[in-house]
Amino acid sequence: MTLVERFLKYVSFDTQSNEESGVTPSTPGQMVFAKFLKEELESLGLEEISLDENGYLFATLPANTDKPLPTVGFIAHMDTSPDMSGKDVTPRIVENYDGKDIVLCAEENVVLSPSQFPELLDHTGEDLIVTNGKTLLGADDKAGIAEIVSAVVYLKEHPEIKHGKIRVGFNPDEEIGLGAHKFDVERFGCDWAYTMDGGEVGELEFENFNAASAKITFKGRNVHPGYAKHKMINSMRVANRFISMLPSHETPEHTEGYEGFYHLISINGEVEQTAVSYIIRDHDRARFESRKKEMEHLVRKINTEYGEGTATLELRDQYYNMREQIEPVMHIIDTAFAAMKAAGVEPHVKAIRGGTDGAQLSFKGLPCPNIFAGGLNFHGRYEFVPIQSMEKAMNVIVKIAELVACK
Ligand SMILES: [Zn+2]
Repeated sequence: MTLVERFLKYVSFDTQSNEESGVTPSTPGQMVFAKFLKEELESLGLEEISLDENGYLFATLPANTDKPLPTVGFIAHMDTSPDMSGKDVTPRIVENYDGKDIVLCAEENVVLSPSQFPELLDHTGEDLIVTNGKTLLGADDKAGIAEIVSAVVYLKEHPEIKHGKIRVGFNPDEEIGLGAHKFDVERFGCDWAYTMDGGEVGELEFENFNAASAKITFKGRNVHPGYAKHKMINSMRVANRFISMLPSHETPEHTEGYEGFYHLISINGEVEQTAVSYIIRDHDRARFESRKKEMEHLVRKINTEYGEGTATLELRDQYYNMREQIEPVMHIIDTAFAAMKAAGVEPHVKAIRGGTDGAQLSFKGLPCPNIFAGGLNFHGRYEFVPIQSMEKAMNVIVKIAELVACK
C-alpha cells in the first residue's frame, strides 16, 4: 500500500472518541482500528508488537546497525474529534488544485473556499484530500499514522539508510484529553519521541500552556424581595462583581501568541448561590502562578466586602508547559530542525495555545515535541490534507531516523 492508500483505508474506520463513556478506549471503534493496525504492522514484519486492553498499540523497527544509538519513538492518535461525525467518511482527491472554490456537498451547499480558508492558496498545484461535506476527514490524526507506518516501510525497503531502534506508538482518546493517561512510557522504552499531530507543513511545537481550572462559589442570602432592604445578598451580583474585577482584555478573544488569559467558561446561579468556572492559561510559569494568586486575592477582596465565607475558591492545576522538560534535551529539537531542512521543509516553531499528549508524556518522562502531520481545518467538515504535505511529513520521519544514527 502507498501512503495515500493507507490514509484512505484508515479514515474508513469510525474512531470518534466520546468524553462521556468513562472507559478506555472511549469507543469500541478505536479498538477495531487498533486491531487492524496491529495486523498491518505484523504483516509488515515489525517486532515487539503489543496491543494492550486500553487500545495502546506499540511496535518496533529494529536497528540495522551495531552502533549504540538512542531509541526514538513516533506517536500518533487513532481517535477523531467528538465535535463532528467520523462515520462513513467519503474522501475525494482534488488533483492539481487550481485555487478556486471546492464544492464539498452540492445539495447542502458546503463549499471549501479560499475566501474563508486562505491557507488553501498555499497548496495550489497540489493534490488535496477533502471530505464530502458531511463528516470530518480524520487527517487528525490518521495522516500521522499513515506517515509513520509509511516511513517505517520506507526504512525497511532501504537498508542502506542506517538507523537505531525505532518505536511506533498509536494511542486512543487524544481528542478527549486522555491519550497520554494510560500510555505505558516504560514499556514504550524510548529515549525520546515525536508526536506526528501538527497541522501545516513545517510546524514544530515544544511549548504549550500551563493550565489550571478555577471554580468559585458565591453564597448569597435570599429574602422576600419586598422586605430585602439591607438583608438580601444576591450571589449573582457578587459573582458579577468578581468577574468585573478580572482584567477585561486578558481573555481568549483578545489574546494570541504567548499572551495568557482567564477564560470564563460557565456561570450557574440563583440568588442563594452562584458557581463560576474559569480556566487559566499562560505559557510562562511565573505569570501562570501569579494569575492563580490574583484569583486568590480577588476572592479575599470579595470576602472583605461581603463577609467571610461569601466566596470560596477551588484551584486545580491541569497540565504544564512541556518546554521545562524539553530544554534539558534541546538536541531533539535540533534533530527535528535538521531533518526538516534535509527534507526541504522550512521549520516553523509555534507555541501551542492548548495542551497536547506530548506535554503529558514529557512530564511522564518521555520528552515528546510535536511535528506537523499536514492536515488543516481539523475537527470539522472543511478538514483537508494535501498529499504532498503527508509525503513531506513521512520524509521528515525518515530523516530523523537517519540523522540520529549519524551523530
Ligand atoms: Zn490530533
